[in-house]
Amino acid sequence: MMKNVDVDVVVVGAGFSGLYLLYRLREAGFSTRVFERGGDVGGTWYWNRYPGARCDVESLQYSYSFDEQLQQDWHWPEKFSAQPDILAYANHVADRFNLKKDIEFNIEVKASRFDENLKAWKITTNTGEEIDAQYFIMATGCISTTQIPNIKGLSDYVGNTFHTGDWPHEEVDFSGQSIAVIGTGSSGIQSIPVLAKQAKKLTVFQRTPNYSIPSQNEPMTKKYERSWKDVYSERRKEMRYSAHGSLKDLNDVPALSVDEDQRQELYTKRWAIGGTGFLGSFNDLLTNADANYTAAEYVRQQIKRVVKDKETAEILCPRSYPIGTKRICIDTGYFETYNRENVKLVDISKKPIQRLVADGIIVDDQLYAFDSIIFATGFDAMTGSIFNVDIKGRGGLALKEKWNAGPKTYLGLMSASFPNLFMITGPGSPSVKSNMIMSIEQHVDLVIETLLSMRRKGLSVVEPELEAENKWVDHVQEVANKTLFPQANSWYMGANIPGKPRLFMPYIGGVGAYREICEEIVANNYRGFKFEKSKQAIAAE
Ligand code: NAP
Repeated sequence: MMKNVDVDVVVVGAGFSGLYLLYRLREAGFSTRVFERGGDVGGTWYWNRYPGARCDVESLQYSYSFDEQLQQDWHWPEKFSAQPDILAYANHVADRFNLKKDIEFNIEVKASRFDENLKAWKITTNTGEEIDAQYFIMATGCISTTQIPNIKGLSDYVGNTFHTGDWPHEEVDFSGQSIAVIGTGSSGIQSIPVLAKQAKKLTVFQRTPNYSIPSQNEPMTKKYERSWKDVYSERRKEMRYSAHGSLKDLNDVPALSVDEDQRQELYTKRWAIGGTGFLGSFNDLLTNADANYTAAEYVRQQIKRVVKDKETAEILCPRSYPIGTKRICIDTGYFETYNRENVKLVDISKKPIQRLVADGIIVDDQLYAFDSIIFATGFDAMTGSIFNVDIKGRGGLALKEKWNAGPKTYLGLMSASFPNLFMITGPGSPSVKSNMIMSIEQHVDLVIETLLSMRRKGLSVVEPELEAENKWVDHVQEVANKTLFPQANSWYMGANIPGKPRLFMPYIGGVGAYREICEEIVANNYRGFKFEKSKQAIAAE
């Protein structure tokens, strides 16, 4: 397309975003190079291989919708698929559409700089190669940069350490071992029941207890699969304009509009169905503190019902934040695991880990000795993977500097002063508050539509207007502030990373509403974006 650059597009990442981008860019005739730091495709599902890893969105929904034959052909073995099945699916898609030949594995993009003369990006990899590209697309995922807390004495510990988000590719055998898990978010809650069955002894270090709902996972039945596949395209249309990019049954009445018995009956029904649909029991659980309390209390009662030891049950009961304002966890036998003889819970909410020593972990001056320590301590979410590339825009402005008080984007897609840089499911878009694959498809489609429109019009540079961006940044906060979400110290708020600005990063206005906003902006001649003509188009005038 452009003769003054090496390639039309450079994409960073070959997860679900990078794969679909490559498919669409190639189809649209844009020359593309994709760089992936991992050894193969799959992104988050390539790295998160910890025992018990699975998706908490139903697989018939957490899958690509862009190709009817693909969605008809693929068979998911379970309702909620395990990591190996999702990774196999990513590989199937890559092979089916012959994508791997254009992906360069085990290569990291280190820096990118917008060159004002060239009106393009100069991109540097860890191999020292510099590539000039018209467009630069970050498809680096929202939850990809692992976080090991800076605990004193970390390097003194001589046993094995693991992070759930960077798990070894070969099988790890914990049998006969005494092991520790630090962290009880989704990754901890999924891995603990499986690890407990392998290890001789498992000790869980919990700072904040989490609300977790049983997945009630089950093998995929032919009947259920057919009920989706017979009407897949209609279902997908509905999902695209839904609140979360997935079909959930929202009971559209306030929690306090029904009496106590009716509420209990409904929670019990939803608990038995399992999954995140529990939060759809009523329409105000995330906006009304009193309504929220009723759901939170129901979960606390379930924990106390399941966990036999009263003291352990009490420690496992979350109380310090409303249910749903930290990512709700979905489990398979999590609370039941604490009834096992070989599992112990250590409450570190008041007395944190003092330090690590050669043998293990010290809490409250007591040594807990371990053969292995597993960090399920989360990620520098939403911005961590973007900042891993040293991105410099107009006038050498570093993205990290521009975002030092929090991410500033227009639609979570672009940032002013960084022309021709797109972020797939960036901060300020529904991203992690949605079924990621549906949001990925929407962003990729929007990028492709924009590039095609620019090509038709002889335009070569696109950038958001600062005013439009500022308004969007305010809107994202305004919508979040109408909910209970800001009340939790969550990674949505950047609260898990010391020094990270505190603000709600994803857009919570809803997947369908967001899509309609994007459609309206495009229909209004890309309101809030500004464009420049290519040199060829100017010369031709
Ligand atoms: P997370 O939700 O951030 O949980 C990290 C855990 O580590 C928390 O319990 C945290 O305690 C604890 N922790 C952090 N620093 C600590 C310290 N210094 N001392 C003691 N404890 C510490 O991370 P995650 O479990 O990996 O999950 C991240 C996100 O990935 C999820 O919310 C979800 O969106 C996604 N995910 C999804 C699935 C799925 O689809 N099922 C599975 C795994 C992950 P505090 O709460 O006190 O900070």
